[in-house]
Amino acid sequence: MPFTPNFIAPPHESPEALWFVYHQHRLLIKTGTNGYRVPRLQELDIFGPSLIHKQFLGSLDEIPCYAAELTTDRHLTGEFALKGLRELFFGQMEEELVWIAGQANQLVDWSRNHQFCGQCGRPTEDGQDERAKVCARCQLINYPRVSPAVIVAVVKGDKILLANNVRFKSGYYSVLAGFVEPGENLEECVAREIKEEVGISVKNIRYFASQPWPFPNSLMVAFLADYAGGEINTDQTEIRNAGWFSADNLPNIPPRITIARQLIDWFINRGK
Ligand SMILES: [Zn+2]
Repeated sequence: MPFTPNFIAPPHESPEALWFVYHQHRLLIKTGTNGYRVPRLQELDIFGPSLIHKQFLGSLDEIPCYAAELTTDRHLTGEFALKGLRELFFGQMEEELVWIAGQANQLVDWSRNHQFCGQCGRPTEDGQDERAKVCARCQLINYPRVSPAVIVAVVKGDKILLANNVRFKSGYYSVLAGFVEPGENLEECVAREIKEEVGISVKNIRYFASQPWPFPNSLMVAFLADYAGGEINTDQTEIRNAGWFSADNLPNIPPRITIARQLIDWFINRGK
């Protein structure tokens, strides 16, 4: 099912349109026997004027997709529920819809946080020929922000470096990741993050793949790297525990939809 992003909404709202609606960072879904379903416009009448920050996202198989924010959960009935974005990563919803939901979350957030010009304080307006918030008084333009982050599989012989981050609730282990700082290129960021978080140095850093990561607005750029030297010494503020794991002795790892898992799967399959 190809999704075609676009910011210009069709002239008429289709009752069949899919609406990715958020209330306090949780997605409005309809529950059913086949997992979660994204509601269509014709099902949203009960919410009426509680839907704000409406934005067109694009089309999925020619079905228009919109994002919006729900100001109150007062009208939630039994068939509707609110689900955190991370919960959607565990197979209750079609993968393509999960990524559109992630995009919707980013844009609703952005719309809410840019209602006023950061330079002169006047209310902003939606851009006419691009997705932007424009100030009519001082001409400042704000685009949706994307924050690049790196994620890296460090390999030492037949083992991969995995760590338990203090933010991971479920106690699983994953590859290391971190945000890019101003003035830094991606490879420098990889080397710095690994050094800071576990105290080792790496070499032979090479690109793997990338993935949007809507928590809240990252682009995860994945790399492979080889161990170069040093002993694991975790920083304890971000990393609780870290170690070298062989493919036949892995701890709990992230769900399949994540690029972290794709890196780990690459490691598992590389010797086959
Ligand atoms: Zn302004």
